[in-house]
Amino acid sequence: MNIKTLTNKLKKRKTKFIIVTGGVCSSLGKGILVSSIGVLLKNSGYSISVMKWDPYLNVDPGTMSPLVHGEVFVTDDGAETDLDLGHYERMLQIHLTRESSVSSGQIYQEVLDAERYGKYLGGNIQMVPHVTDAIKSRLLNFAYKNNVDFVLVEIGGTVGDVEGVIFLEAIRQLRMELNPDQLMLCHLSLVPYLDWANEIKTKPTQHSVILLKKAGLAPDSLFLRTDYKTTLKTKEKLSVMCGVNRDLIFDALTVDMIPKIFVNLKEQKVNERIQKWFGIKNIKKTDLIKWKKLIRIIQNKKRTVKIGLIAKYVGSNDPYLSVIKALEAAGHANKVEVAVEVVEAEKLEKSSKKEVEKTLSKMDGILVPGGFGKRGVEGKILAAKFARENDIPYLGLCLGMQVMLIEFARHVLNLKGASSTEFDKGTKYPVISLLEEQRKINKKGGTMRLGVYPCSLLPGTKARKIYKKDKVLERHRHRYEFNNKYKELFEESGVIFSGIYKKENLVEIAELEKHPFMIACQFHPEFLSTPLKPHPLFKEFIKIVLEKN
Ligand code: GLN
Repeated sequence: MNIKTLTNKLKKRKTKFIIVTGGVCSSLGKGILVSSIGVLLKNSGYSISVMKWDPYLNVDPGTMSPLVHGEVFVTDDGAETDLDLGHYERMLQIHLTRESSVSSGQIYQEVLDAERYGKYLGGNIQMVPHVTDAIKSRLLNFAYKNNVDFVLVEIGGTVGDVEGVIFLEAIRQLRMELNPDQLMLCHLSLVPYLDWANEIKTKPTQHSVILLKKAGLAPDSLFLRTDYKTTLKTKEKLSVMCGVNRDLIFDALTVDMIPKIFVNLKEQKVNERIQKWFGIKNIKKTDLIKWKKLIRIIQNKKRTVKIGLIAKYVGSNDPYLSVIKALEAAGHANKVEVAVEVVEAEKLEKSSKKEVEKTLSKMDGILVPGGFGKRGVEGKILAAKFARENDIPYLGLCLGMQVMLIEFARHVLNLKGASSTEFDKGTKYPVISLLEEQRKINKKGGTMRLGVYPCSLLPGTKARKIYKKDKVLERHRHRYEFNNKYKELFEESGVIFSGIYKKENLVEIAELEKHPFMIACQFHPEFLSTPLKPHPLFKEFIKIVLEKN
C-alpha cells in the first residue's frame, strides 16, 4: 500500500501516535518514559505497540561494542535490537518483532537498494521525499499491521543531533498528513537543579524546544526530567516560553525503582490528560495494582544475597541489562534483595589461586553471562570450576554454558586443553565448535543463530521440574554449539543434557547431577524475564541461593 492509502486507512481507524523525543542530553530515560506511558495506557484497557527509531548508521546494534551501546536485545524473530526494546517488553509484557527496531542505516540501505534495483529510474533520490517516505512508510505499515489503539515511537538520540534530523522531518510531515489530534509529540528534557544557586533551571529545556521548533515541530507535552518536584511556577514559565499547555507539563522524577515512575505519572494524571488531548470522550482510568504490590515487596525485603556476575565488559552495567533485570525480578519473586557484584573476568584470570578464592567465596551464587571473543574466558572458566568444586549455585547463560562444559571437560574428563574453536582454533578437544552451516559464513551482521527455537526438556531433570513443561521457546544469539561427539563422555561423568533442540539435536541446557544448582543454557532466558513474571531458571537459581545461605 502506498503512503497515502495507508494514511487514509489509519485516519479512519483513528490510530493514535505518541512520539517521544529527548532534549539537552542523553540518558534521560526516554525508553523508560515510553514504557511508562505505555503501561498507563495499557492498564487503562488500550492496545498498544512500540517502535524505536535509532539515528545511527549501523543497520542494527548487533556489531556494536556492548560497552558503547549496551546490550543487544534479541526479539522472538531474531532481530538484534537496541536495549530499549527490552524495557518495552519487560514493562509492557509484550513481544515485539524486528519491525519495532528501525535505524537510519536500515532506512538508507532500503532506499539505496531500491535505487540499485531501478525503483526510481530517472529520478533524483533525495532526503525528502525518498528517505522521509521510507521512514513514514515503516511507521504507517507498522501501525496498520498491528492495528492497535496507540503506537508509541521513541526517537533515539537528542534533538539537535545531525543524524536525527530526518526522523523529525518525517514526523513533521506526518503531522500534516494525519488528523490534527492523531499525533502527539512528547518531549523529555532535563531540568537540572544547581546546587550552588539552589535553583531549578528551565533554560536548557527552553533551548531544546527551540531546536524542535527549528525542525518545524512544537511539542504538545513536556516531561521534565528532574531530581526534585518542580513547582507550578516552573511549569507556568515553561508553558509560556515553550508554548505548551500547562496541564501537559509533567515531572519525570528521579525515583529509586521503575514502578514508582508509573505511580508518579499516574498521580499527575498523565494518562487522563493524554486521552483528553486525543479527544477521547470516555476517559479511562488506569490500574496499577500489580505494580503497587511489587513496590511493596521490594520495599519490604529483609535479606540480601550476593551474586557474582563474571563479566568481560566492566564500567557500565548496560552490557548486562537484561541479566541484571532478570536477577532483580527473581529476587522480587523470592522476596530477597539481589546484590549483583561485577567481577572482571580478565582480572580473575590474572589473579593467584588465593585471590580467586577470596573473591569468589564471598559470592552466594555465580552467574556467567553471554559473551564473545577470547578476552576473559579463562577467568570465567575459573569461576565455573570454583562453583562446581564448592557447591556454589551457578547459572550459565550462552557462553556461560560453553564455559561450564569446557571446565568440566578439562578438569573432570581430563581432556587437557579442551576449548571452543572460538578461542582456540586448533584445540585437541573442541567440545564447543561451529556447526557446518556456520563454517561457511563470513559476514558478521545478523548471521548467528538468532531468535526463538523450541527446547524439549528431558523428564526427571532439574530443568524439567523448574519449567514444569515439556517444551519451551527460548531466544538465542550465538554461533557455537556443544559438540555432540563428546556427549556420551560427559553423560558418563554426571552431566545431564536436559534441554535439546530436537530438530537439529543441539544441546540447549546442561546441568550437573551432583551439585545443588549448576545449570546452564545455550539460550538467553534473560530476554524473556519480566518484573511481573520472572523467568523460572532465574527464580529457581535465587531460590537455591537463598536456601543454601
Ligand atoms: N561466543 C559464543 C557463541 O557465539 C557465545 C555467544 C553468547 O554468549 N551470546 O556461540
